[in-house]
Amino acid sequence: MPDYAIQTPPVVGLPIAGSDALFPVRRVYCIGRNYAAHAIEMGHDPDREPPFFFQKNPNNLDPSGTFPYPPHSSDVHHEVEVAVMLKSGGTDIAIGDAESHIFGYALSLDMTRRDLQGAQKKMGRPWEIGKAFERSAPVGPIHPVTETGLLNAGAISLTVNGEIRQEGDMNQMIWKVPEMISYLSEYFELAAGDVILSGTPAGVGPVEKGDTMEISAEGLGSFTVAVV
Ligand code: MN
Repeated sequence: MPDYAIQTPPVVGLPIAGSDALFPVRRVYCIGRNYAAHAIEMGHDPDREPPFFFQKNPNNLDPSGTFPYPPHSSDVHHEVEVAVMLKSGGTDIAIGDAESHIFGYALSLDMTRRDLQGAQKKMGRPWEIGKAFERSAPVGPIHPVTETGLLNAGAISLTVNGEIRQEGDMNQMIWKVPEMISYLSEYFELAAGDVILSGTPAGVGPVEKGDTMEISAEGLGSFTVAVV
């Protein structure tokens, strides 16, 4: 056992449906503009330009079901996404081999301080201040792929206070999950514990304190998150 000079940070462990074991998180990658209708609503051409990614921090993932409204923003948006959890990784993974690295899937939210992200975009600066803030990625229980099978199609949706806001189908992803894994593995070494947020369908919009978000996807049930 090495002797650490300060208290060691805790491993982030996410709940797994039907298990007492936790999924330990290593890295979090998020893809941008991966559903055509969302790319259009954000003012971009949905043509298949190369994918792009940003990162959140492992401890931004929060399974508690509450989302504290963050400081320094008055325009915090919901983005419902399917999170893909990896059980193994590597570099230069072929598209055909990519799905063998999947441990499971979970419902998640890529909560975004849109006003801060917009200001960073205008200045050509990184997005972290808009994306990678505390508890910015609420996440539901992980469903192992051994239970769900591979998820490449199926409805995905979000309601706020019971009103439908986002609706799409996983088959509308511009870059499919195996393509994302393969692409990322050309630029980074992927490994067990990595999480990929696979993009959001159209209909993103603001939430307020007191709102209740319910996110759902076929095969993953639903998960409720209270804005506090
Ligand atoms: Mn997103």
